[in-house]
Amino acid sequence: MESDIEQVLWTAADIEQRVKELAAAISRDLASHTPLLLLGVATGAFMLVADLARHLKLPVLVDFIRVQSYGNNTQSSGVATVSSCDAKINVKGKHILLVEDIIDTGVTLSALVDHLLERGAASISVCALLDKVCRRRVGLTLPSNGRLYAGFQCPDRFVVGYGMDFAEHYRNLPYVGVLKPQVYQSCKSD
Ligand code: 5GP
Ligand code: MG
Ligand code: MG
Repeated sequence: MESDIEQVLWTAADIEQRVKELAAAISRDLASHTPLLLLGVATGAFMLVADLARHLKLPVLVDFIRVQSYGNNTQSSGVATVSSCDAKINVKGKHILLVEDIIDTGVTLSALVDHLLERGAASISVCALLDKVCRRRVGLTLPSNGRLYAGFQCPDRFVVGYGMDFAEHYRNLPYVGVLKPQVYQSCKSD
């Protein structure tokens, strides 16, 4: 598995440090938005949700939603298919922190923000570990009381680890690394 990684971009220690900083900023900025519903975008956000939750100094609720735009590919389809978007927790009147592994084109988050607003969320902020700013296709408009927290700017490479997958593999790597292109070029998606 490690031999499939071309380059480590952020080590486990880099990520731990940055997540602590993000949690401190969120705890300060959203102190009046409690209980804060940490709504992880499954599956990729599971590590960030777990780590953030432990460092936030706020009362939180935790839930996950599922949206798919990639399938087993390394490029966004450009369409976010909401497969089971409704969280278990009713979002009406809730202050939400959407937690994402990575923002790429922005299609997924925009669809989710619209969906949550339609269901009456009181506020929506976003926390993503990585942001591929150069790839943005859809402007991410948060409601006026929402904030965007991003851990690191990500180069335009396909990365895995710390929750992020290729065809459901590599999610448990404790670091974020660039996947060797020959891995996905030789892999028939199942
Ligand atoms: P968007 O809708 O912003 O284009 O894509 C968002 C989703 O695509 C992310 O939440 C993530 O699941 C997936 N994604 C985007 N870039 C990468 C990447 O470099 N590696 C992996 N593993 N997933 C990515
Ligand atoms: Mg994701
Ligand atoms: Mg994926």
